[in-house]
Amino acid sequence: MRELGGAIRKLATWPLAGFLLVCLTLTYWQVLAADQLNNAAENNRLERMQRRIQPGQLITRDGVVILDSHSSPKGWERIYDDTRAFSHLTGYNSRTGLQKTLADALYAQGLYSNPWEELMHGGVVGNNVHLTIDARLQQVAHRAMRRKRGAVIAMDPRDGALLVLYSAPAYDASAITRSQEAFDLFVYDPEKPEINRALQGMYPPGSVFKIFTAAAAIDAGISTPETVFQCTGVERVAGTQIRCRRSGGHGKLSLREALTDSCNIAFAKLGDELGPERFRDYVKRFHLLDSTNLPLATSTGRMADFSAFKGQMQLAEASFGQGATLITPLSIARLTATIANGGEVIQPCMVDYVETVGNRRTTSGRGEQLGRAVSAQTATTVAGMMRAVVEQGTGAVAGIGGLRAAAKTGSAQNPSGDPHAWFTCFAPYDAPELVVTVIVENGGSGAETAGPIAVEVLRAALSDRTR
Ligand SMILES: [Zn+2]
Repeated sequence: MRELGGAIRKLATWPLAGFLLVCLTLTYWQVLAADQLNNAAENNRLERMQRRIQPGQLITRDGVVILDSHSSPKGWERIYDDTRAFSHLTGYNSRTGLQKTLADALYAQGLYSNPWEELMHGGVVGNNVHLTIDARLQQVAHRAMRRKRGAVIAMDPRDGALLVLYSAPAYDASAITRSQEAFDLFVYDPEKPEINRALQGMYPPGSVFKIFTAAAAIDAGISTPETVFQCTGVERVAGTQIRCRRSGGHGKLSLREALTDSCNIAFAKLGDELGPERFRDYVKRFHLLDSTNLPLATSTGRMADFSAFKGQMQLAEASFGQGATLITPLSIARLTATIANGGEVIQPCMVDYVETVGNRRTTSGRGEQLGRAVSAQTATTVAGMMRAVVEQGTGAVAGIGGLRAAAKTGSAQNPSGDPHAWFTCFAPYDAPELVVTVIVENGGSGAETAGPIAVEVLRAALSDRTR
């Protein structure tokens, strides 16, 4: 019996081993390698599609084709015109930038497919996408940001159209798709050129955030531009030591003067008085930490939880843009646009329209209003205070004189070295047409480093208008 039992066990071993092998194989292909298989299938499908279809172009509002294509023996290939100025918009292959997110339009797929066209001509032609971006202004920003890290945004506050969306350092999309060595240098570059800093950069806002605190406090009725504060240079507010940028203190000063000469202590006291609930409520009303529906990846901002332990202390720091607050340059541009736009929050956009077969146009949601952040009267009051920043305060940048601009400067303390330089502005002051926001990483003084770049873009844009 024992021998028979042994034989049965031996016989049973083989099917069992076989069963285990099948299980392991299935687990491998269905679980462990599933993503890899899906990606491979997706890549093959994309590559086949790309070779077959003549892809659509990306065209700026001034008619420059920033993403084109040409026919090669391998099929259609992309051409990147003036790539460094537009790299963060075009991306460098069909899986990055607008080439990825606008693929349906550019390759006439999904909503944009046209079976009739395919049947008639035996092939599909993609749709051209017209952007709100102004190539000339984008190039001005690109040149002004040479050898700097940071971002430049220009936006029409009336309908949210982005005219400039520039991130530095940029990269050469043509070069990195041609050579493995160039691609490796790009991927391992410590300055991280692949990040679109305008939309994904998370920075302490520093003093440009005082626009928000002033607007919230005036709108809530707890302050006017004439409310008087006392600043002795170093003071304890809400249990934390606050240092003003003037170590000797400002003495007695009004809220208007506190914004003009960027006093931290007055704003810490103002935020403390506003309190966590109202502060948070205005953060929501301004959509400060919200994402957007732009066709490029955008980070949401971050702020301390003011109801937690030491919340009141963190609120005092947040009121002048320091502490745990991190925000994107786009968010500061939208905050500035809200003041310029009479208190109405606008959704930023960058696609003007898609040109489908037969020159039919599919328009995007341009000018979408997100609601009111503050009253029109509050917005006008804060705009007037920002005008004073240019006329008498820290925003008196060379060349801004003739532009009738309103602005706010910032130098944000951060853990990575010199302060980040901020400058945000709009013009003309009495009928705003353009918001420009600039950040230069570790640039030091906002007025000295970021200010002149904003002025260059503003000047180029407004001179264009009079031509
Ligand atoms: Zn002060």
